Amino acid sequence: MRIENPKVVAALPELGVQWKPGTSLAALTSLAIGGTTDLLRITKHDSIPALLSLLDTEGVPYKFLGGGSNLLVGDGELPWVVLQLVSSQPDIAVEGNFAQVEAAADLGRTVTFCAKHDLGGMEGLIGVPGTVGGALRMNAGAYGMQIGSYVRQVKLYRAAARKIETLEGDQISFEYRHTSFAPDDMMLAVKLELPSKAYPEILKGIRICNEKRRASQPLGQKSAGCIFKNPPGASAGRMIDDLGLKGLNVGDARVSDRHANFFVNAGKASAKDMLALIAEVRERVQKSFGILLEHEVVVWNG
Ligand SMILES: Cc1cc2nc3c(=O)[nH]c(=O)nc-3n(C[C@H](O)[C@H](O)[C@H](O)COP(=O)(O)OP(=O)(O)OC[C@H]3O[C@@H](n4cnc5c(N)ncnc54)[C@H](O)[C@@H]3O)c2cc1C
Repeated sequence: MRIENPKVVAALPELGVQWKPGTSLAALTSLAIGGTTDLLRITKHDSIPALLSLLDTEGVPYKFLGGGSNLLVGDGELPWVVLQLVSSQPDIAVEGNFAQVEAAADLGRTVTFCAKHDLGGMEGLIGVPGTVGGALRMNAGAYGMQIGSYVRQVKLYRAAARKIETLEGDQISFEYRHTSFAPDDMMLAVKLELPSKAYPEILKGIRICNEKRRASQPLGQKSAGCIFKNPPGASAGRMIDDLGLKGLNVGDARVSDRHANFFVNAGKASAKDMLALIAEVRERVQKSFGILLEHEVVVWNG
């Protein structure tokens, strides 16, 4: 979608928005799939309510992009613009057992920054690409931990109230790859409370998690992590593997040979290829196991 409305174009600079017309989302997502649209990079949090109410009143639909590591974006010219936060520097501050982190901060850098201040707990998140905002929205987790366990406060733009608010941790529910935030809430910053742990001990945990990832995931290939959520008491990857579907492909979209719940873009896969592969695998799993797998990857298709 191209912003052509002169009222919107004129307002963007004063709202602190960097306007990048015709941006390729394939270049901004880890799957390297996605068409083009206008990207609006937000440098001033205070201007978000004014920006979003302007877009709403002028009929410009939008979506929020973090690091693009859990997204499958449609092909061609996209029917909405994309909003992305620009982090200010520094974007992480530690005081005692608390870390105050901006949503646009890189998740891996946050884990290592906290580790260097002898704050642990998030070792499992090392190797999870993307931003802290994306991790909050999805309640990212791995190896028995999830970010939600450490969240004490979230500053966010509440679409329903049209203003920036702060929620306490106990006002938010964090479940397996699901949170109680409204779909149009925008995470701006988080306060984490982390357990004290000596840096060398945290580093040991980080190395173990890195090893596990290297041994089981196609890390050098373009993916969005796990495509499906694990159903209660079962493993989506194991079911797909048991059906012998590793290597199954539609065009350049392929079920990874290394991890059956990772689907990779092995060349020039389109969203159409990837969606067809996802549908095929989902149908075969349902036929054989009677389980309809739920997407973990967020699909922006139209
Ligand atoms: C190799 C690989 C390994 C992975 N391993 C794991 C893993 O072990 N565990 C795990 O949980 N995930 C994993 N993932 C998936 C992904 O990295 C996480 O879900 C990550 O937290 C997504 O963050 P992001 O910033 O990239 O979000 P994006 O992909 O940009 O967005 C994901 C969703 O969050 C929303 N969003 C992003 N930022 C904001 C914001 N500021 N406010 C409101 N909504 C926002 C988007 O609108 C979208 O709905 C992996 C991915 C890859 C490629």
